[in-house]
Amino acid sequence: LLMAYDPARRLARLQVSLERAAVNARMLYEILDTVPHQRDRADATELKLGQAQIEFRNVHFGYATGGDILKGVSFVAEGGKTTALVGPSGAGKSTVISLIPRFYDPGSGEILVDGQDIAHVTKQSLRNGLAYVSQQPYLFEGSIRDNIRYGRPGATDDEIEEAARLAYAHDFILAQPQGYDTPVGENGVTLSGGQRQRLSIARALVRKAPILLLDEATSALDTESEAAVQKALDHAMSGRTVVVIAHRLSTIANADKIIVMRDGLVVEEGTHKELARRPDGLYARLHNLPGDIAEIAAGADAL
Ligand code: ADP
Ligand code: MG
Repeated sequence: LLMAYDPARRLARLQVSLERAAVNARMLYEILDTVPHQRDRADATELKLGQAQIEFRNVHFGYATGGDILKGVSFVAEGGKTTALVGPSGAGKSTVISLIPRFYDPGSGEILVDGQDIAHVTKQSLRNGLAYVSQQPYLFEGSIRDNIRYGRPGATDDEIEEAARLAYAHDFILAQPQGYDTPVGENGVTLSGGQRQRLSIARALVRKAPILLLDEATSALDTESEAAVQKALDHAMSGRTVVVIAHRLSTIANADKIIVMRDGLVVEEGTHKELARRPDGLYARLHNLPGDIAEIAAGADAL
């Protein structure tokens, strides 16, 4: 018991948590709202948010280690609407999302938010407008309350509870041994996949940001969790500009616009109805495959 309180051991555990989180800048951002610091331009201005429309204009991008991953991506995600990115794995969907908070900058082309090139605004003002829910929700060592508060360090307990209610997490949180003060993470209680996802959605909601970036989970949840997560997501998405990497057919079919990507390019865009009607389109072919979109993604690689 004594050893559990040994400060050095605690520090070591924290470091392990941080290192795991740091494996993925996107994940780290979700938790801490800070990624390795890149400096703003000397003349950077504050982002002024209105409708929160996002536009990619002929964006080219490659990671330091290889060739072009995005080969001229253009699309508009309308303010207050849901835009779904679909396509085979490796198409560049996650890369597109990670350019919006400027984890990376494009090699060429522009990304505009409400007409302002995000390369010219302060990262702080850009990221204040964004919330991100990753595919694999990460729980940090600490209480449930702490884990939600990572979304916005200044959030009050009331705001945390409000976010948890909206994320359909409040009831299961109260059912934990110490409610909101129950420790989670490495040495805490074990939560189900659906519960972790709802905490991660609460963390995003507490930010009250107009733009939501969402990497939809592919992992199978039990039916009850799935329904609760879906309700939580409906709350998170309503009234916001959403860019979602979508796997579930329900998310895709309900999106205001679908962007179909393949090999670093947008190959089709439209509504579910429009795209499903094009007999030779990639989307129609994906859509006609048996099974759900999670399998479709795998099947698409064979096309
Ligand atoms: P998707 O989300 O559509 O599956 P990604 O955007 O994750 O596609 O990946 C597109 C391509 O970029 C893939 O070939 C992938 O291997 C590569 N890639 C993704 N992340 C990195 C990274 N951090 N460093 C180098 N290459 C990467
Ligand atoms: Mg991806």
